[in-house]
Amino acid sequence: FLRVTDVSKWYGDEQVLDEVSFEMDRGDVTVLIGPSGSGKSTMLRCVNRLAEAQEGSIALDGEEVLAPDTDVDELRREVGMVFQSFNLFAHLTATGNVALGPRRVLGLSEDEARDRAAAQLERVGLGDQLDSYPAELSGGQQQRVGIARALAMEPKLMLFDEPTSALDPELIGEVLEVMRGLVEEGMTMLVVTHEMSFARAVADEVVFLDDGRVVERGPPEQLFERPERERTGRFLERIA
Ligand code: ATP
Ligand code: MG
Repeated sequence: FLRVTDVSKWYGDEQVLDEVSFEMDRGDVTVLIGPSGSGKSTMLRCVNRLAEAQEGSIALDGEEVLAPDTDVDELRREVGMVFQSFNLFAHLTATGNVALGPRRVLGLSEDEARDRAAAQLERVGLGDQLDSYPAELSGGQQQRVGIARALAMEPKLMLFDEPTSALDPELIGEVLEVMRGLVEEGMTMLVVTHEMSFARAVADEVVFLDDGRVVERGPPEQLFERPERERTGRFLERIA
């Protein structure tokens, strides 16, 4: 469903992705882990063309994402992204934030967009906060609005870039709980996270990136319990 093949990327002279390959079936959850600067965010951003890979192939549902004639707006409708910082509009309510994309990008009517937003906010457990402004919500609630906003576009793939890293520890659980719910619904998800217990519980495959390269990948039981590479073991010890 998503096939990343030998993707390389440079910023100027600096190579940040070096022949990265992995693939996902529909409904799979893949977790990308690795040290700071290893290229995790860059890899995600290449999938929705927020960053341009110079070499390799990324096929999504049989279509080449990196082709020059790819409709990038359509690609970004199909691929939802959730960031570490929630990036909500402060002057819009939860409903307003979630309805914006369906209204502006999908062209739904005001009423349709608000109905869809309400449904997605219910889905992330915020049915009682439809009219709250971001400043009235906790970080965990704001991030759940961020997830609802991505879901409202009915994406076929969801990218998560450290969705809980900006949260106080006591708020992380509610966001992971929403993500687990999406996993159960069969959403295809590519997730950068340092939450190893989450990765262990839901990942079909864990990909360990270091210095732009895939050092090792495999099912979480294998990668966490019996890493084949010494480098993987050292990284896991450090973050445990
Ligand atoms: P972190 O865990 O800190 O988020 P990461 O694994 O997500 O790190 P990236 O953000 O993908 O790493 O960065 C990979 C490398 O690319 C780093 O050396 C970074 O400095 C560099 N880089 C990222 N974005 C840019 C940019 N827009 N211009 C130049 N260099 C960049
Ligand atoms: Mg990053």
